[in-house]
Amino acid sequence: MTKHPMSEFLDLTGKNVLITGSTSGIGQGIAAGLAHAGCNVMINGFGNPQEIEVFRSNLENQTERKVIYSDADLTSVASIEGMFTQFKEEFGDIHGVVNNAGIQHVAPIEEFPIEKWDQIISLNLSSSFHTTRLAFAEMKKRKWGRIINIASAHGLTASPFKSAYVTAKHGIMGLTKTTALEGAEFGIRVNAICPGYVKTPLVENQIHDTAKARNMSVDDVISKVMLDRQPTKEFTTTEEIVRMTCFLMSDATNSITGADIKMEGGWTAL
Ligand code: NAD
Repeated sequence: MTKHPMSEFLDLTGKNVLITGSTSGIGQGIAAGLAHAGCNVMINGFGNPQEIEVFRSNLENQTERKVIYSDADLTSVASIEGMFTQFKEEFGDIHGVVNNAGIQHVAPIEEFPIEKWDQIISLNLSSSFHTTRLAFAEMKKRKWGRIINIASAHGLTASPFKSAYVTAKHGIMGLTKTTALEGAEFGIRVNAICPGYVKTPLVENQIHDTAKARNMSVDDVISKVMLDRQPTKEFTTTEEIVRMTCFLMSDATNSITGADIKMEGGWTAL
């Protein structure tokens, strides 16, 4: 019997994918989702080494895929290059990169710590330039590649007190479009996912920082600042972003490139 195309359109078997910042939150969900969809994955990020190893080995056992870990600090170019050397040694080819690692800092511009600005631009923006440039030549040669940048609604619109984050995320949108054009004739597809607020450790911390910066209660920050801007009045979920990432990693998305995939509950339609 001939297979219906839908029976295998999300089969990602045999793809080797790096997911940055995947020891927590959205990235951890994406790494698990991609492995369950058939990919060998490299996870990366900080955290308790024992907990990371439990996550890594459980995922490997559950999926029978290869799951490896890099503790590279992505604010260091040498560490990023070391992570790629490890990837090559353990996996060989690289088919996909999910640029997800990111941090936040909330403060008025006149009090914004200079070292936080530098750290956010380095991690949330420059690290994606480095991973993209290091993966690109091989993807070009193979004429197939997927780069998925986890941007934000803040890649498309601003909020006060988040100067570094909003600047970095707007930069990611430029990088996405430029590299989509450069990869277009080589089978490389580059897209950005722009989520609204997702309840992860990054946001839990932000709720408290925003409460302080705006002199508001935690409940008021959730209802009057965060979800106020999301017309659905619901947090975006990690599961939704995982499904979108798996879809973008597949062959089904050959005509989607340079796109901003808005998953912000209508925020930017306002
Ligand atoms: P998180 O804090 O749960 O996870 C961040 C990950 O990045 C962790 O694995 C952490 O160890 C890693 N990391 C931090 N510094 C690093 C460094 N120097 N080198 C390598 N890894 C490092 O955050 P999250 O909410 O899951 O966010 C993931 C991405 O999604 C970020 O880019 C964020 O901007 C974006 N995003 C989040 C939301 C949200 O509401 N949570 C909304 C839109 C976009």
